[in-house]
Amino acid sequence: MQAQTLFHQDLFHSFEAMKTTAPGMSVKAFTAMLDQRTKWFGRTGKVNADAFQRSFLQYVYCNSEEDQLLEKEPLVCPACSPETVAVSVDGNRKLYRFQKANQSEEPGFFDGVFLSQDSEVSSFVEEVRGAVKSTAGRAMCGESQWTAARETSKQANKLNEEGVEIAVCRHGFLLKGLNMYRGEIFAYPMFLQKEFQDAAFLAMDVTCRYVPYLEKVSEVLTHLQPLQKIRHCLSVMHAKAHNTKCKILWNARNQEGAGTTLGEEVEQVDSFLSRCALTTKYMSKSVRTDMLTVHAIGWNQRKENGLHIALSSRFKKTVENSLDATESLKKMQDQLHCSDDMLKQWVVDVKQWASSGNAAASSVDARGLQISIEALFVSICQKKHYLYRQNDRNKRHQKITQKIAKEKKSLLDEIQRYNQQPDGDPVDTHSVVQKLSNKAAESMIWPWQEQNTDGVDILAKKKLFDQLMLVLRLTEEKQILVKEMMQRCQYLKDSVAKVQTLLATISDCIKTGSKCYPNGFTEEASKGLISLLKRRLHYLRLKQQTAACTYRGILQPTPQLVEDEGEMEEMDWQRDLSSEDEDDDEDDAEVGTQVTVVIPFDLTCTLT
Ligand SMILES: [Zn+2]
Ligand SMILES: [Zn+2]
Repeated sequence: MQAQTLFHQDLFHSFEAMKTTAPGMSVKAFTAMLDQRTKWFGRTGKVNADAFQRSFLQYVYCNSEEDQLLEKEPLVCPACSPETVAVSVDGNRKLYRFQKANQSEEPGFFDGVFLSQDSEVSSFVEEVRGAVKSTAGRAMCGESQWTAARETSKQANKLNEEGVEIAVCRHGFLLKGLNMYRGEIFAYPMFLQKEFQDAAFLAMDVTCRYVPYLEKVSEVLTHLQPLQKIRHCLSVMHAKAHNTKCKILWNARNQEGAGTTLGEEVEQVDSFLSRCALTTKYMSKSVRTDMLTVHAIGWNQRKENGLHIALSSRFKKTVENSLDATESLKKMQDQLHCSDDMLKQWVVDVKQWASSGNAAASSVDARGLQISIEALFVSICQKKHYLYRQNDRNKRHQKITQKIAKEKKSLLDEIQRYNQQPDGDPVDTHSVVQKLSNKAAESMIWPWQEQNTDGVDILAKKKLFDQLMLVLRLTEEKQILVKEMMQRCQYLKDSVAKVQTLLATISDCIKTGSKCYPNGFTEEASKGLISLLKRRLHYLRLKQQTAACTYRGILQPTPQLVEDEGEMEEMDWQRDLSSEDEDDDEDDAEVGTQVTVVIPFDLTCTLT
């Protein structure tokens, strides 16, 4: 007789929840724990890990079918729809998969759901590569080349998928991904970009190289021209690995309308996925695809549950930071005797400086040294940045550390040689060393880059420029957050409407006794669906209330909202907020006057 195992749904549910909290835990570890319990309760037999995994994925798949019937959208961020401020695309090279013999390459249940279908991606890659010969390296900035992170290393030969390229929104929702097979080539972000044409900004790691490449490609492949409409920027966490001029031109911080886009949220996702990689690297292709989708959906669900808190605390933080930043800007202006008009001029100066070339070098030799010094400096910064982000593979880590030491030595040699040149400002070796050892890689401006026409050096101007940009972005961020809160409310409202329509349609069918139920269901099944829909409706309404209550609390200083006082219970954090306010009445007044949020249309109607 064949042995059969019955799994309780609740067990799968627990496993699913556990995988979201502890993505590195394997199925084997979980079933070992179950075996332990079997023993403890005096039963016999073992839980088969393979059978458990298979059944679990089937269970998850059935759930996702049910979710589709309820019109849930697990890979959509409610705060970003319909209008998205920014999407970040980034490669995660920890999500590789080991090659194993005799493994079926069958697609999983979720092929093409979160991870795009390989065939679709590869035909796009072929098309792009056929149109424009690819540039040598993706991870480069300025005249320097940085290949450490992108080269398909020897180790990669033992791998099938080399990693995953993912698209993430400002709130850390996982939106879409694809498998990488040939290192981090530009065609991958381009493929993902196609999916998010409505986003205002696309943030990535090497924008300065990607944009010219995209231009070239869309000249040949005209159907890709719309991709140029999006505004490009460097994601904040990658900006460190670029040279100073590049940072000024491309950093998200310096783009009007970007708000304080994409910071720690993307890093959080990255570290979550890296933890997932601990188990997915040993899986078969189909199981990996499915598990990664389960992880993505679980992650998004968690994000969605906390979205109202995330948005409102972000708003609160932004208001506070904005006040601080404005104050420091004023202080800095005073210190440098810089009037508002002068500040405007300095902003222009800095931008001009960033897009200008260097001052003419005294000789060809000198120019050569300059290029090599700049390149070495950026290269060291990039390697350090890489180490900071990828800290799991020890061998590689060591190699790169050695490389950094080597490059540092050549950099200092080159600087010494440069300083021996007859005419030309010498480089301050001490400050270079200091800047390199600094964790928060400061911007380096070389003597030949300086452009000192009015007695103020460019570094001082840039300091004020940076601060002003921060103030401007924080101001935008407030507006963006209000809009996102509204979009989130509207999304919930739309979801309620959808569920209600579905309910009405099915109920009508049952009432009239017509035999054509939606989805080709039987009457029994339709009744089941009705109860699921009712449950979802209840859940959505509850969510609406919590969200509206939270947002109302945080946006309270705005007069538009005062009239609309609901009878909802105060939430805990709101109480915290009000008690803080009592302590410091002066601050409270200041916040009240400073928060001038323009609400474009009636929030009151959306909130209820
Ligand atoms: Zn979002
Ligand atoms: Zn760059």
